[in-house]
Amino acid sequence: MEEVDYLIVGAGAAGCVLAHRLSENGRNRVAVLEAGGPDRHIWIKVPAGFNKTVYNEALNWGYETAPGPHIDGRRIRFPRGKVWGGSGSINGHLYVRGQAFDYDTWAQLGCRGWSWSDVVPYFRKAETRAGGDDAVRGRSGPLRIEDQREPHALSDAYISANEALGLKRNPDYNSGDQEGTMLYQQMMRGGRRWSPVDAYLRPALKRGNLRLIDRALVERIDFDGAKAIGATFRRDGASQSIRARETVLCGGAINSPQLLQLSGIGDPEWLQPLGIAVKHALPGVGRNMRDHYAVRVSALVKGASSLNEKSHGLALLGQVVRYLVERKGLLAASPSHAGGYLRTRPGLATPDMQLYFAPASYGGAGYGTTTLDTVPGMTLGAAQLRPESVGWVKALSADPAAKPEIQPNYLAEREDRDSLLAAMKYMRRLLATRPLSDFVIRENFPGPAVETDEQWLAHARATGSTTYHPVGSCKMGTDRMAVVDPLTLRVHGLAGLRVADASLMPTMVSGNTYAATNMIAEKTADTILAA
Ligand SMILES: Cc1cc2nc3c(=O)[nH]c(=O)nc-3n(C[C@H](O)[C@H](O)[C@H](O)COP(=O)(O)OP(=O)(O)OC[C@H]3O[C@@H](n4cnc5c(N)ncnc54)[C@H](O)[C@@H]3O)c2cc1C
Repeated sequence: MEEVDYLIVGAGAAGCVLAHRLSENGRNRVAVLEAGGPDRHIWIKVPAGFNKTVYNEALNWGYETAPGPHIDGRRIRFPRGKVWGGSGSINGHLYVRGQAFDYDTWAQLGCRGWSWSDVVPYFRKAETRAGGDDAVRGRSGPLRIEDQREPHALSDAYISANEALGLKRNPDYNSGDQEGTMLYQQMMRGGRRWSPVDAYLRPALKRGNLRLIDRALVERIDFDGAKAIGATFRRDGASQSIRARETVLCGGAINSPQLLQLSGIGDPEWLQPLGIAVKHALPGVGRNMRDHYAVRVSALVKGASSLNEKSHGLALLGQVVRYLVERKGLLAASPSHAGGYLRTRPGLATPDMQLYFAPASYGGAGYGTTTLDTVPGMTLGAAQLRPESVGWVKALSADPAAKPEIQPNYLAEREDRDSLLAAMKYMRRLLATRPLSDFVIRENFPGPAVETDEQWLAHARATGSTTYHPVGSCKMGTDRMAVVDPLTLRVHGLAGLRVADASLMPTMVSGNTYAATNMIAEKTADTILAA
């Protein structure tokens, strides 16, 4: 049985960072186990390929949520990357750190060492970014953050309409202060996706002391008493084990809690009915899961070309040539181009709503639909930044290949519904505000028949969807429901086992979750190496 110093489970957004940092000295023996295969799929590299990868079964765990009691009992498709780079290889490219307030809240909740001033050095260490304040932005890290190469005329009009409604233009929403409207910054290099594989894993694989074992489904963490000693995985139909001095779980917010549960770590009331022997009772494993829930409003467009007409026939061919020659145009664009952060009611200290804009429309259909319309259109989206609604991830079987139950409990809390209601009305106002209104033929989704609060909420329940940001299912903290110790990132009560991925966020960060996960992994690597 092979033995390494560090075993990393999952080569996703966090796992790639750990693989790079823990092997950096050339001496530590590091192994990574990843269930997916190489990131060779052509559409992973091309930003507009999002639509081709997001639900692609070859790259995906293929999850869906349990019926949502507050969203008309609907199940929602719930993509998670199963490929080198994990969800970081199929995500929407947007680089969003969140608010200083988010991390100060973590510190306030008992996570010492995680305030905004504590985490800024790790955000800086991770990125290379031109622009913004030297004190908060990084200049020489592995992750490339680019501005859009060719902002769309409709995005400019959208930003100006936000300004007309009083939302100022924010020169750098990643400074800690998000409020305002802007074009999104993107995780790209020269118009191509710059994934955690490009940034961290591929360079590290050149070292002789890092070994990646892919297409390997980790089935359980192995223990000697209360100490983790490695993991057992299945590859090519055979069961194998690796021993490790330290095991770091980077399976993401769905799989990390499931894997802990399969290993006998969790709520005994959940484990015993599955026939899983309880090794260590930790009731918080899989609980405290939160996700962003977004709703769309769209309109038919005149006076400007949208992405819809460019995505067929000869026009598409022209786009392919442009992309190949200049790395510009439709194919260089991520799904969301512009957006904003606003307060939906007076009295809030910071924004509670994130806005998205795409110069494209999707057949007058709900969030998560990726089929482009055939007529020119544009789509506005909104998601509440810090949802109060809390759900869970729960293994339904002792079989590691079985899918867990994912229940985000969208819209369970009144505050979440109120914020979304205000945002939906705001999006309609935007469509009626110049200069954006100059391009509007009419709102076609949900359309003028939706007028009252109850009708708007029905629209939200019937057509909203995930923005793919589950967090919190192995939260760090010091309370009874905490799973991970904030200082060491060790699983409470166990030795040799840490968790470092999106699952340990105690509360949702204000925005897309990749940047925060990347920071968590950078900080965890530092903590491990310092120990
Ligand atoms: C479709 C989509 C769009 C998104 N868009 C954005 C965006 O635009 N901006 C943004 O900031 N965030 C975005 N996100 C979210 C962001 O990508 C995630 O927050 C981030 O990738 C989480 O990192 P992670 O390391 O926790 O998990 P992941 O990146 O999902 O990595 C987990 C890895 O562990 C592997 N794994 C899991 N279980 C096992 C097992 N049992 N055995 C072996 N390997 C295992 C998985 O295959 C995967 O590779 C998006 C996510 C998705 C899915």
